[in-house]
Amino acid sequence: MRLLVVEDEARLATALRRGLEAEGFAVDVAGDGPTGLDLARHGGYDAVILDIMLPGLSGYRIVSRLREERNWVPVLILSAKDGEYDQADGLDCGADDYLTKPFSFVVLLARLRALLRRGAPERPARLSVGDLVLDPASRLVTSAGEQVSLTAREFRLLEYLLRNADRVVPKTELLDHVWGATEEADPNLVEVYVGYLRRKIGREAVVTVRGAGYRVAPPCPGRGTAGGPTTPEAGA
Ligand code: CA
Repeated sequence: MRLLVVEDEARLATALRRGLEAEGFAVDVAGDGPTGLDLARHGGYDAVILDIMLPGLSGYRIVSRLREERNWVPVLILSAKDGEYDQADGLDCGADDYLTKPFSFVVLLARLRALLRRGAPERPARLSVGDLVLDPASRLVTSAGEQVSLTAREFRLLEYLLRNADRVVPKTELLDHVWGATEEADPNLVEVYVGYLRRKIGREAVVTVRGAGYRVAPPCPGRGTAGGPTTPEAGA
């Protein structure tokens, strides 16, 4: 297993390298942000241990950039920044785990093993289909770069459809996941809210598969946004 350690404190970097090599890992060290990003991009690592406060480029920027480039290498942030918002920001940028300094080497190893077990499947921090982008952390939705204002329910519906963009989602499943078991479950609600969504993000953006459910579709260019559907067709 090959690891990249991006850490500008030379003594800590050396200690990490020695400790990890003693555990059988092959370890490269980068001492600044740009070098870290470059190695993470091209080095074929199984995981990256990433500091936040780095010369040249912060750890947040590095992990954001990697995820934008669809690089899913597991990233564990190791930082002295121990505020709850620092940790939330790190994870929302696309990191997989966060450990604060000072840290236990035993715990670091266990976290690394857990990360390596999961491998590197796609896990984008932002969900998108075509030019429709939903950011679960900031709760912002943009369509062709323009912000779309959704209610909380519309947001949850779109988020669920985007998380399952590779398949048709049955109405009953949407009721379970977007409305929840405790609420009155009227399947017509799903149709109503899909209608609201279409009005805001374009009617082609959510496709009805008759008798099966809904799926999001890559949008067509030139579709209507805030102005409503571009074609005045009736029906669901
Ligand atoms: Ca640092």
